[in-house]
Amino acid sequence: MRVKRRSKHRKVVKFYASCFGFREPYRVLVDGTFVHHLLVHRLLPADDALQALLSASRPPPLFTTKCVLAELRRLGKSHSDAFDAAGLLATAKCEHDKVVSAVDCILSLIGERNPEHFFVATQDSDLRAKLREVPGVPVIYGLKSSLFLEQPSVQQRKFAQLDEEKRLHMGKSEYLKLLKVASEGNTENASDDEKNKRPISSLVQNALGVAEKSKFKKKRPKGPNPLSCKKKKPKPQPSPAQNQGPKADGEAKRKRVRKRKRSYKDSKQTETLLMQHCLSNGSYGAAYNVVWLPFAQESTKDVFSSQ
Ligand SMILES: [Zn+2]
Repeated sequence: MRVKRRSKHRKVVKFYASCFGFREPYRVLVDGTFVHHLLVHRLLPADDALQALLSASRPPPLFTTKCVLAELRRLGKSHSDAFDAAGLLATAKCEHDKVVSAVDCILSLIGERNPEHFFVATQDSDLRAKLREVPGVPVIYGLKSSLFLEQPSVQQRKFAQLDEEKRLHMGKSEYLKLLKVASEGNTENASDDEKNKRPISSLVQNALGVAEKSKFKKKRPKGPNPLSCKKKKPKPQPSPAQNQGPKADGEAKRKRVRKRKRSYKDSKQTETLLMQHCLSNGSYGAAYNVVWLPFAQESTKDVFSSQ
């Protein structure tokens, strides 16, 4: 299948999933004409072909009805292969005690809203035209050796849009009605508080027959990949004798006194301070001899030496 066509089909499936609640495994209701087409054009195995068409993660189960089988049998020898092949498929239960035509049977199964979320596969153009008027019915058909998924009809798109607008601009009475409908199902035992706490989106979706998302949690790794981590080294238990050794060293290190290296600037400062101190005490010469001489200017040295 061409990439462009595939992405087109994927979009159609997404439309029915988001607007009408279609979920995997998708179910395909086939009629006799479609089974015949599959056999003539050797689109086998059929479920694989349909899986590729719907971009599904698993082969979709195929269904017929007893009325469809009866019609194939009536068609005689030309459709005997199709009858045999259709006989191997699952049978969707219809409520016809007396066999009706395949078209009527499929239309009655689909009803007004397609509650079973069937994809309908048929080569009957009249049936396809009728199905386009029902909201939420995706239609599959074959053209030679290719399968196609019909684009949603104008009516279906309009219905989805109106439905969405209805949900957006819902009155209080409608909201309460939906709340009641939704709570009648699984939450019969739940208290009123719990019912009120449920988010409105889920209530609305349930009331409209849209299945909730699967409740299965995705399995995720709980920590870092153990294969990508270094093994932890077991800590060696230090013996008491060893324990004392490094400790004593540490103390010795701490006791070591570091001599501070004096910069020139620092020594100058100390020198002036010392000079001031000596001058105040009257022992100027001592200061001169000890400290000041090495840094003294020539002129000042002369002054002092003349003393
Ligand atoms: Zn039937």
